[in-house]
Amino acid sequence: MLQTIKKIGVLTSGGDAPGMNAAIRSVVRTCAFHDIKCYGIYRGYEGMIDGDFIEMDARSVKGIINKGGTILKSARSKEFRTKEGRQIAYDQLKKAGIDAFVVIGGDGSFTGAMIFNKEFNFPVMGIPGTIDNDIFGTTHTLGYDTALNTVVEVIDKIRDTASSHNRLFFVEVMGRDVGHIALNVGIAGGAEEILIPEEDLGLDRLVESLRRSKKSGKSSSIVVVAEGDKIGKSVFELKDYVDQNMEGYDVRVSVLGHMQRGGPPSCFDRVFASRMGVKAVESLITGKSNYMVGMKNDLIELTPFDQAVKGKSKINKELLRVSDIMSI
Ligand code: ATP
Repeated sequence: MLQTIKKIGVLTSGGDAPGMNAAIRSVVRTCAFHDIKCYGIYRGYEGMIDGDFIEMDARSVKGIINKGGTILKSARSKEFRTKEGRQIAYDQLKKAGIDAFVVIGGDGSFTGAMIFNKEFNFPVMGIPGTIDNDIFGTTHTLGYDTALNTVVEVIDKIRDTASSHNRLFFVEVMGRDVGHIALNVGIAGGAEEILIPEEDLGLDRLVESLRRSKKSGKSSSIVVVAEGDKIGKSVFELKDYVDQNMEGYDVRVSVLGHMQRGGPPSCFDRVFASRMGVKAVESLITGKSNYMVGMKNDLIELTPFDQAVKGKSKINKELLRVSDIMSI
């Protein structure tokens, strides 16, 4: 392998996601495998600007593959959005002799890396770490599979209460721009309705559909609502509307919030993280830069950062139909 790169930095940036530690571990160990020094960069771009680096070897990442969060900590950095801030970051990397970095984060983190690469011709590679699965160029993002499993487990529990008390539950899940989580956990948890940003069902059709479910003999209903859903101003407004327009149900709301982002990564996410870390480091070693690593048809592949950032991740329309049929 062509080796012009001698020291690689790795950082986690933006919101944390399960599997980030497994990806750090993979980057560090792949560097060790190829005799490249590896530096952990603490607190995302904030730590890059502060020169908050630590040399890591294969043993520095023991016992973390099963841990949620990120041992390197994550942050959002306003200063990195400025040319001056990025210049300081570049000077810090140069001072430490770091030749390239791998950033594990979302599309904001990739935009930052892309600008940095353009300004300083600095080799960069991205690993998509976000539970929303809202990044173009990969069928999965790191943490998404774990989040699905976490949410399904919770919905199963909510269902126990809903059916014991004849209740209708609105369960709000993450997904500001895309409804991947809502759609999948909705089907897996047997939801009566799934409300996602991509579709505006309308309040009246929602009530009509809930009435139909009740009439067909259902003793409980669960409506999964993605946080970016456009029908109501909030999940609480939906509850009020249904409360006022439908009899026979005690209506409750459950906002799952940050618990969806934590916890040990699933088997899928651990393997996925390990594969992506190897690909990120080996791509840098072979002279590639400015790409996001991701998965397409179960293969680990690269997508140019500009495409990953500009493109829009789309929901699988087939799932909408499956959900309609299942909730009869
Ligand atoms: P999440 O999906 O959790 O929101 P993200 O990576 O999209 O993750 P952001 O807060 O958008 O999270 O971005 C993380 C960091 O990337 C920002 O705090 C900033 O330092 C850097 N960044 C984002 N956009 C830019 C930009 N246009 N120019 C320079 N840096 C940027």
